[in-house]
Amino acid sequence: MEFQPEVLISEEELALRVKALGNAITSDFENEEVLIICILKGAFMFCSDLMKEINLPTRLDFMQLSSYGDGMKSSGSVKIDLDISESIKDKNVIVVEDIVDSGLTMKTLLELLQARGPKAVKIASLLFKPSKNIHKVPIDYLGFEIEDKFVIGYGLDYAGRYRELPYVGVVNAGN
Ligand code: 5GP
Repeated sequence: MEFQPEVLISEEELALRVKALGNAITSDFENEEVLIICILKGAFMFCSDLMKEINLPTRLDFMQLSSYGDGMKSSGSVKIDLDISESIKDKNVIVVEDIVDSGLTMKTLLELLQARGPKAVKIASLLFKPSKNIHKVPIDYLGFEIEDKFVIGYGLDYAGRYRELPYVGVVNAGN
């Protein structure tokens, strides 16, 4: 049966916030080149909209990470399924993520990237769930803080579906 998701963050709210994040990145890096690392698959839509709002010379690469667990919960270990294809040595890196929950994925990734000698590594995350956050990672560019609910849409999936929704929605149990 199909879900009827409830809108949590509308398309208009997303566009406004993404524009503000793009402006902040543009002014922080002042004409320096940045390498955007889009974390697949969930960040693809946020990343593509964000890049359009960054007025800097940019490069783009992709990583895919998986954390093992069942269904709607993330668990204790993070695996790299796809790595970037270029060196980040002495580069300004912006990791673009969909959501920080326990923080394990970003903490693991940050340690790995920092060991590769970049000039700077910043994290941009569309969403943050403070209630579940165990591994404290600094989110330099945050879209929205949300309650501890499972969200879908705007790139985020539930069992591979609903990524195409133009808004962030909540899956309500029972519908
Ligand atoms: P963390 O390692 O911070 O616990 O988990 C981060 C990852 O868990 C995200 O990149 C995302 O893939 C997944 N995740 C956490 N919360 C949600 C959620 O509410 N909806 C969806 N679709 N994925 C989530």
